Amino acid sequence: MLRHLRRSLVWACSLAVGAGILEALWHYATGSSRLGGLRMVTTAIMLYLLIAVIWAAPIGLVIGFLQAGRGRREPPPGFYGALHLALGLVLVAGYAINVAFLGGFLDPLSLAVDAALVGIGCPLLMAALRRPFAALAAVAGPTWRRLGPLYWLAVAAGWGLPLLGPSPRSGAAPPTAAPPPGAPNVLFLLVDTLRADHLGCYGYERPTSPRIDALAAGGVLYENCISQAPHTKQSTASILTSLYPPTHKVERFTTALAPEAQTLPQILHEAGWRTALMSANSFLSPTYGYGRGVERFEGSLVNPAFQLLGAAVLNRLQYVLVQELHLWPGPWLLVRKLRDWAFLGGENPYQHGMTAAELAAEFLAWQESLADDRPWFAYLQFMEPHAPYDPAPEHRIFGNPEPGSELGVWFPADGSTTFLPFARGPAAAPGQREAILANYDACIHEVDAQIGAILDELERRGELADTLVVLTSDHGEEFYEHGGWGHGQSLHRELLHVPLILSGPGLPAGRRVPARVRSVDILPTVLALVGVAAPAAVSGEVLPTEPEAAARPAYSEVQWVGHWAVSWRDDEGSLIEAHFRGQKAIMLYAADDPAERRELAGERPELAERLGRRMHERRQAYAAQAMRTEQVEIDDETRGMLSGLGYAGAGEDAEEPQENR
Ligand SMILES: [Zn+2]
Repeated sequence: MLRHLRRSLVWACSLAVGAGILEALWHYATGSSRLGGLRMVTTAIMLYLLIAVIWAAPIGLVIGFLQAGRGRREPPPGFYGALHLALGLVLVAGYAINVAFLGGFLDPLSLAVDAALVGIGCPLLMAALRRPFAALAAVAGPTWRRLGPLYWLAVAAGWGLPLLGPSPRSGAAPPTAAPPPGAPNVLFLLVDTLRADHLGCYGYERPTSPRIDALAAGGVLYENCISQAPHTKQSTASILTSLYPPTHKVERFTTALAPEAQTLPQILHEAGWRTALMSANSFLSPTYGYGRGVERFEGSLVNPAFQLLGAAVLNRLQYVLVQELHLWPGPWLLVRKLRDWAFLGGENPYQHGMTAAELAAEFLAWQESLADDRPWFAYLQFMEPHAPYDPAPEHRIFGNPEPGSELGVWFPADGSTTFLPFARGPAAAPGQREAILANYDACIHEVDAQIGAILDELERRGELADTLVVLTSDHGEEFYEHGGWGHGQSLHRELLHVPLILSGPGLPAGRRVPARVRSVDILPTVLALVGVAAPAAVSGEVLPTEPEAAARPAYSEVQWVGHWAVSWRDDEGSLIEAHFRGQKAIMLYAADDPAERRELAGERPELAERLGRRMHERRQAYAAQAMRTEQVEIDDETRGMLSGLGYAGAGEDAEEPQENR
């Protein structure tokens, strides 16, 4: 039996090393990952080795036990190599078929298909693989017996190599360029998940935002700003690069900014600004490319190992074994510790984001520490209005219930995906929606107070008069207006209508601009206001400050696990095209129906056709500038990989932090 166990492990581990190297090579060849070079290889190998042990030990034990009962002690040469590879390939194929064609993983049809694949495909593949593996065993066996320990030693040493690289937290050096004379500071306030229509200055009935309202009264308020995506990852990438999602291609948890995408802090740092980026949302992490040009980063680091396929497989295994089969979680804690130690020097990547008060304190301390006369740029991302809507007690001023209890509607109990219009969320119980709204509003009030505290302190320090303040959000939130909760699952207005307020030197006070504008317009506007040239690649345009300015068409997009949608808004109306497991749906709303209440696709097909044509034209134009597929990138990519920054992964997203979208 032990012989079987040992053979099973040795073959699985050898295949794991091969799989790790293959994945690393695949990332290099396609430029799909920008992890640090050696780190990517060693981590991929380690992840696959862990999978191999979890996979091969029970198989070897069970087969050894069965064979011992039949009096056979020795597995045929190469048997376990062929078995593991065949079974692995069959399971990958089964998984792909499930994702592409079948509903779930556990419905009868899926199980029947999987059983057929394992029962028929696996023996066939094994028959084909047995001979080459037997030959391999004959050649490699003696070498293995001599060099085996060395091999394991090399793998173990490789695991420690990542520690020699620079920490992902180490910031950029102070700037050297001379900023334009009289250049102002820039305070960029991004309040995650903030619907424009829940702010007093946007007409909300509750007094959620006295300080933001005052900021708007002293500056320019854009009544109709549309974000480019309904979740943090895609939207903040558009905000900070002025590129549409089909161009920057930052989609899933595993994708980071392409090296050639220039971010606002990076541009300003190169132009001579001192820079800080402080975020309570872990998507704004140097791991995802947001550390460029940032001297001081505060927030949580995202472990770059998440970008490897092996991590996704490991997480899936963990889910099944610990969550569903309730096995002892001890080994997984060790696995995570190992992985985090290798990538982050032991730092906990799951630490929860800072509160608004902590962010304010960190920022003010950093600002005070600046000893030179250079202007500064700070990007602060607050998280309070994001679920689970847990306002500090002193802000529960809207008849708030105890936070948390009202969130039962959030995700369907059966774990299915909500994606409008195909899959709706559950309806709220009486009073539940009101309770959710009360806590959401109280969270806005909490951030508002901290923004007020920051502005007061900057005023006291004599900094505010020289500071351009930008306030916006990455996306809104839906409260069952169209049948969904939260965000990331549709492109209706409640998810895309975000506040946008600019205030500071060179801007009029008390100005409101009704015209539709877009999140991608923010970056070129900030640069124009501070006197720095925008990169040639930006897609946005400088914002107007005239009340009678013309509206701009707005393209938005969502790519989420297994589904995607695109939307278009112009003077004729708004159009959403959603795709879900091979199905497609069109939703059309007239221009005089901003709340998108009356769906018209069936009634006005010619309008849907027209808007759809414009939308896809723009989408193709943005996609034509897509960043990761260009040949000229090769040098940049290599550099990017060495710098330890990550990019796109394949397969399932690892570590989906549901609370952090
Ligand atoms: Zn967000």
